[in-house]
Amino acid sequence: MNIKEQDKEYVAGTYNRFPVVIVSGKGSIVTDENGKDYIDMTSGIAVDSFGACDEIWRQAIIEQSGKIQHISNLYYTEPCVKLAKMLCERTGMSKVFFSNSGAEANECAVKTARKYAADTKGEEYHTIITLKNSFHGRTITMLSATGQDHYHELFRPLTPGFVHAEANNFAELKHLAETHKTAAIMIECVQGEGGVIALDSDYVKALADYAHEHDIVLIVDEVQTGNGRSGQLYSYMNYGIQPDIVSTAKGLAGGLPLGATLMGAKVKDTLKPGDHGSTFGGNPVACAGAVSILGRIDDALLAEVREKSRYLFGAFTGAEGIETVSGMGLMMGLKPSKKKAADVVKECIEHGVLCLTAKDRIRLLPALNIPFDLLKKAAEVIKACCA
Ligand SMILES: *Cc1c(COP(=O)(O)O)cnc(C)c1O
Repeated sequence: MNIKEQDKEYVAGTYNRFPVVIVSGKGSIVTDENGKDYIDMTSGIAVDSFGACDEIWRQAIIEQSGKIQHISNLYYTEPCVKLAKMLCERTGMSKVFFSNSGAEANECAVKTARKYAADTKGEEYHTIITLKNSFHGRTITMLSATGQDHYHELFRPLTPGFVHAEANNFAELKHLAETHKTAAIMIECVQGEGGVIALDSDYVKALADYAHEHDIVLIVDEVQTGNGRSGQLYSYMNYGIQPDIVSTAKGLAGGLPLGATLMGAKVKDTLKPGDHGSTFGGNPVACAGAVSILGRIDDALLAEVREKSRYLFGAFTGAEGIETVSGMGLMMGLKPSKKKAADVVKECIEHGVLCLTAKDRIRLLPALNIPFDLLKKAAEVIKACCA
């Protein structure tokens, strides 16, 4: 049996995989089992921040794996502390909890918010308001947080205490906050799985002001939008707001599993010893990888991300067969007008470009350092496949 047949036999069938077996990669080019090269416009769903097998990142994780690969969170290790300090200094947040994934980073955010509300207002203040069309992860509680019914249907009963507000409708959000004993409001500034749709600036500001005035914890889910993806280190920075909690994962460690929950001054001491934990969270190898990634997401790189974003918006806006272009930074959604997004993506793969979908859109999440010539080539292929 070949790889595809063995996968079908032995791996749980939860993914509709594209018919490609990737065996290696370098930067923004990945290669399949037949030696065919592809320009990677996915970076593993916003994970491989500096592309495949980035040399500096590789050295960082090789070096750490030769010192100690894991020792449990009952002992101190340097990479985790170094990364937490970097994250706090770059964001103005106060403390960090490390886990392994986006869903876990969000779980920690919700636990922290509920405990803060219980401590300050009473246990009945436990409702978390999230937005319709959001995506916050696959655990039972993060399914409850996710404001899309089709993720819920097969898995009830879900965790109680979540209500969903229409995005960009402040009146509805305010109404929900007034009629529920609310612990937190949780948003993605750009809804990723929901179709790569950025929230309105006025709405986000109004919501952040409201949360602040009422001592409601503001959680921004930066799992997909974070770590340079939006053209700023975190997408909330494009909106001029300061969240109480930021969760992130995906691109943070450049391809190793790592989640982080950043806690602002208000909630930095909410969790006490024994309140939360993780066996692998803050793993030294993953953290060493993240230190090497975060250190290179500097002003120059962020300016480059914004320039590439302007190029892509320019290339796709008004192009034949593309109805709308949405997103922020190197996180883009294209709504095709002549074909289904999934069919365009299949065509792109045949022509040597890997893309993703989100709802009815083609979703692009290239590595932050993708060279301009590859970006241009990929854009030409995608345009031709949409036309
Ligand atoms: C991917 C994603 C998650 C879930 O992350 P996992 O690492 O798959 O658990 C949560 N929130 C957002 C916004 C995401 O894009």
